[in-house]
Amino acid sequence: MMRYAMAIDTKKCVGCSDCVVACQTENEVPIGYCRDWIVEVTDGTYPELELEIRSERCNHCDNSPCVRCCPTGASHYSDGGSVLVTHNKCIGCGACVSSCPYDARYSHPKGYVDKCTFCNHRVKKGQQPACVSVCPTRCMYFGDLEDPNSEVSKIMKLRKYKTLAPEAGTKPQVFYLI
Ligand code: SF4
Ligand code: SF4
Repeated sequence: MMRYAMAIDTKKCVGCSDCVVACQTENEVPIGYCRDWIVEVTDGTYPELELEIRSERCNHCDNSPCVRCCPTGASHYSDGGSVLVTHNKCIGCGACVSSCPYDARYSHPKGYVDKCTFCNHRVKKGQQPACVSVCPTRCMYFGDLEDPNSEVSKIMKLRKYKTLAPEAGTKPQVFYLI
């Protein structure tokens, strides 16, 4: 079975925000909201400091509290395990927004909840998600984790990686190469 996933190289991300702008344009995200964002984390003690820069988004978790808590079925698993929201089934109750440990959803001014879709409208046409396609350092890899020849499978065989907040038990499908 197909499993869409993304791997993001923390050693190559420079925090330029091109992915954020591309996503906002591609998905008509209203001004003041975002489906992806940049996080900078400093670790260690001076002078042994390390800076990690990450492009974050919905993790399209395998065990999603947002899908479980949705009273209308608007939040659901779609092709390749991606987690999507059917806008016209969403009543805007916000249960999913509160349930997400990653703060990956926002309430759209039009009354429904919105978030990253892994650009499923582009992927269906054989294109890469907008964020992946514009990254100037090519630090993002997207594809089918079940296909050993996909870019994402190949890079994850070569590199160490982590997921965010694994203790939440959500089984994220966005992996950070470290
Ligand atoms: S990151 Fe949040 S919104 Fe995305 S699937 Fe996981 S729990 Fe749901
Ligand atoms: S806000 Fe919409 S998607 Fe979220 S739980 Fe409520 S009905 Fe479901």
